[in-house]
Amino acid sequence: MSLLEVEDLAVHFGGVKAVDGVSFAVDQGEVFAIIGPNGAGKSTIFNLISHIYQPTRGRICFDGADITGSKPQDMARLGIARTFQNIELFDHSTVLDNLLMGRHTHRQSNFIQDILFLPSVRREERLHRERVEEVIEFLELEAYRNKRIEGLPYGVRKIVEIGRALAIGPKLILLDEPASGLSVEETQDVAFWIEDMRRDMGLTVLMVEHDMGLVSQVCDRVLAVANGKPLAQGTPHEVQADPHVQAAYLGT
Ligand code: ADP
Ligand code: MG
Repeated sequence: MSLLEVEDLAVHFGGVKAVDGVSFAVDQGEVFAIIGPNGAGKSTIFNLISHIYQPTRGRICFDGADITGSKPQDMARLGIARTFQNIELFDHSTVLDNLLMGRHTHRQSNFIQDILFLPSVRREERLHRERVEEVIEFLELEAYRNKRIEGLPYGVRKIVEIGRALAIGPKLILLDEPASGLSVEETQDVAFWIEDMRRDMGLTVLMVEHDMGLVSQVCDRVLAVANGKPLAQGTPHEVQADPHVQAAYLGT
């Protein structure tokens, strides 16, 4: 069954058709990649699914409901989390606080309930902390828990960015270039975590990635885009062999 269905999605910025008629469906439990040259519209597709942009045309269905026209702040409640291509963390805060802040976008209680510190609020707070501790353990971030983001190596910040999204407890996680700038060993860790997210957390993963080694290793299916338009869809092997895809990368 499809968890996410994108139908004829398009967004135009002035005269630029950043995304133009993209359709695909991601099944529950699948790892699905979007590939394409720089400027192809991949991050824009993520911005449309996470409702940072509203589409000019098309429909987005998630978990059996049409969610087109939702607000970015609805995403955590729906169960959609994302990372950003350019890491978006609070540099002066610790790893733990960044993960808790990620989690707090999900909170149910309101301001009055918070001041009164009702049992329901305490229970919610405990759940937040438990979830964040699970994420720290899962991503092996124990050594960095109380360290500020600004002092951490790039590879660790990339992992915390994934952790911030995981802390929400999503059904679907969107990873925008999770391996960019990482060493071979760090990329291998990312591959293992993606496989564990699917197997142990039951997550569905949609990723944008340039590293075709990683894509072939972890992805079931791939959509290739260029100039905002879909080029090919299939297994990593099929898509890499597609002449339209090869032409887009070679610029011929
Ligand atoms: P990719 O992630 O595939 O490298 P992007 O989705 O970031 O590409 O960008 C696709 C195209 O859309 C680019 O030409 C980019 O300049 C344009 N674009 C993206 N967001 C905006 C925006 N907010 N305003 C104007 N143009 C945009
Ligand atoms: Mg991008």
